[in-house]
Amino acid sequence: MEKVNLKNFDFKELENWVKEQGWQKFRAKQLAKWLYNKKVSSFDEMTDLSKDIRNQLKEKADINALELITFEKSKEDGSIKFLWRLHDGHTIESVFIPEKGHNTLCISTQVGCAVGCKFCFTTKDGLIRNLTTAEIVDQYIQSQRFVGLEPEKRISNIVYMGMGEPLANYENVKKSVRIFTDDKMAGLSNRKITISSSGIIHQILKMYEDKEFPQVRLAVSLNAADQKTREKIMPISETNTLEDLMKTLNKLPVKTGYRIMLEYVLIKDVNDSPKDAHKLARLIGKNKKRYKVNLIPFNPYPGSPYQRPDKERVDQFHKILWQYNIGAFVRWSKGQDISAACGQLRKKDLETSFITKASLNKN
Ligand code: SF4
Repeated sequence: MEKVNLKNFDFKELENWVKEQGWQKFRAKQLAKWLYNKKVSSFDEMTDLSKDIRNQLKEKADINALELITFEKSKEDGSIKFLWRLHDGHTIESVFIPEKGHNTLCISTQVGCAVGCKFCFTTKDGLIRNLTTAEIVDQYIQSQRFVGLEPEKRISNIVYMGMGEPLANYENVKKSVRIFTDDKMAGLSNRKITISSSGIIHQILKMYEDKEFPQVRLAVSLNAADQKTREKIMPISETNTLEDLMKTLNKLPVKTGYRIMLEYVLIKDVNDSPKDAHKLARLIGKNKKRYKVNLIPFNPYPGSPYQRPDKERVDQFHKILWQYNIGAFVRWSKGQDISAACGQLRKKDLETSFITKASLNKN
């Protein structure tokens, strides 16, 4: 009999599975508590379940979906990049980012990515496969176990900005969000979860129309303020044009506290000129209350065809947006010394690059 992974279930499904085993309904709550509150990694730790039930669970179910291969901690800012092995040998990454007053986990949703953004390291070998719900959820559980369960180490924010296009793995991402935001499960705040998309219009619309998709924040990788430049660095723009994308975003029902984040990777001599900044401001136009702009200076990786603009250029771009009263922030990516910054996560070659670093040190 093939085992089921309990982290693939939302609460309703967990209850149904518990019922199928002939157990009482409250067992679902008990299991959810052990998995998402106590974050245990074995059935033996579930001490308020009888030995008989624990033995049955061991026969029928799994709770771990990832195996930690290695990790690397940034000396600059304390962020930790994890490299996980999946059951079929593929590898993915997550990044824990400690910040003042809160901690964020950046998670992956696919092995590789089909979208093909020209500035991105993840997409170099295309898409291998989607992650299961359990593989998405377990990045949160195992990262939290690793950093510790003390309140100050608690992961409060989750950003779907690791490897992959989250909305291309729609069902599994949706279920993982349901698990993260369900009070009977992980119980995280909806406002602290951000899904970042490259701008697949029909999938964004689907998410907003889907009553079962909990409302979370949306971030969209814009990266250019005109169609020609965007097409050059984001081929997806050929079919999801900038004009259509902005029209769609301008009409989305956005609640207070859920402003859409426009991500803009600043690439030297590609999209970083003052003219580009003015164009971006005009593109946002009268909808400035609906958006926040994140300016992310490009992080060069080995062999990358692009460069990072210097600080003056970044500041100049930033200032122009503020002159238009647009809420814009510069995000100098965390974890640059361990290649954990935006667009630098990649499934292949990681094992060697990780393992050859002699400086691995949990503390
Ligand atoms: S930036 Fe995101 S969507 Fe674009 S190729 Fe990389 S992982 Fe895929």
